[in-house]
Amino acid sequence: MKPAAFAYAKARSVDDAIRLLGDHKGEAKLLAGGQSLIATLNMRLSHPSLLVDINGVAGLDGISVENGTVEIGAMTRHVTLERSSDIAKHAPLIARAMPHIAHPAIRNRGTIGGSVAYADPAAELPACLVALDAEVDIAGKGGKRTVKAGDFFKGLFETALGMHDVLTAVRFPATGAGTRVGFAELARRHGDYAMVGLAAVAKGSGKSLSDVRLVYFGVGAMPVRVRKAEAALAGRSVDDAIKALDLDPQSDIQATGDVKKHLAGVLLRRVAAQLMGDA
Ligand code: FAD
Repeated sequence: MKPAAFAYAKARSVDDAIRLLGDHKGEAKLLAGGQSLIATLNMRLSHPSLLVDINGVAGLDGISVENGTVEIGAMTRHVTLERSSDIAKHAPLIARAMPHIAHPAIRNRGTIGGSVAYADPAAELPACLVALDAEVDIAGKGGKRTVKAGDFFKGLFETALGMHDVLTAVRFPATGAGTRVGFAELARRHGDYAMVGLAAVAKGSGKSLSDVRLVYFGVGAMPVRVRKAEAALAGRSVDDAIKALDLDPQSDIQATGDVKKHLAGVLLRRVAAQLMGDA
């Protein structure tokens, strides 16, 4: 299928993008890597009157690590994250997630900002950002604001972004000594969206864990933290954490809710082994 007709404008700056979005009163959409947006246009699930291209806008691209904080510009491509030595060293959770995101051709164009703004409930990066307790920077008509990743995802493909907002960057603490990360997912084929996935961050000393953050994806409308299981994994055992798993996945085209709950337990065992240094 072909998309409905639309106009195209290349934004010269973030302010220019905000102005163009405002001029079209909710009828315009930002174009980042286009890997999700173009598919929705072709399937006529979306029919904006204008695409505002933010490729080439200065200041939206790149990775910096300063004073124990990692900042990633919205237009940073998945492939850049995948190949970055800074990400491997200071954000190993993101590094572990990258190979699971789609296929190389899609990772060559897709951006972290696009992935977070699109907020697919089965996507890896939103869950990683919640696990990392990240912040999301947004520029809009009213100026700039920062939203915690845990508050950014509001529902199915719904976020804290308004119609005239540009997500500009994400930021989170660099993973230092004493912090451990774990990541696992199950997909029907490598590169497909996950049936169920789990991103985790914890403080660790020997086998003992504290400050555990377990964030599932593919099990609900948005990334899901399981606080009872987190507490059980910190204070007790993996078996206790699996018993305490406070998750009630809905059935979807991938699997029934019961199958997803079972798989979530399987992933918890795998990720706990990573956090405890056994895997
Ligand atoms: P675009 O497609 O350009 O934009 C997506 C949406 O976000 C649009 O509504 C756009 O207006 C908005 N947007 C983009 N950038 C901004 C911004 N800076 N501020 C505000 N709004 C913005 N993703 C996964 O996570 N895991 C997978 O396993 C996976 N598998 C895929 C398989 C296939 C076959 C395909 C085609 C895609 C897959 N993806 C997967 C999606 C891929 O990661 C996309 O790159 C990503 O979801 C969107 O990023 P993008 O830069 O291409 O955004």
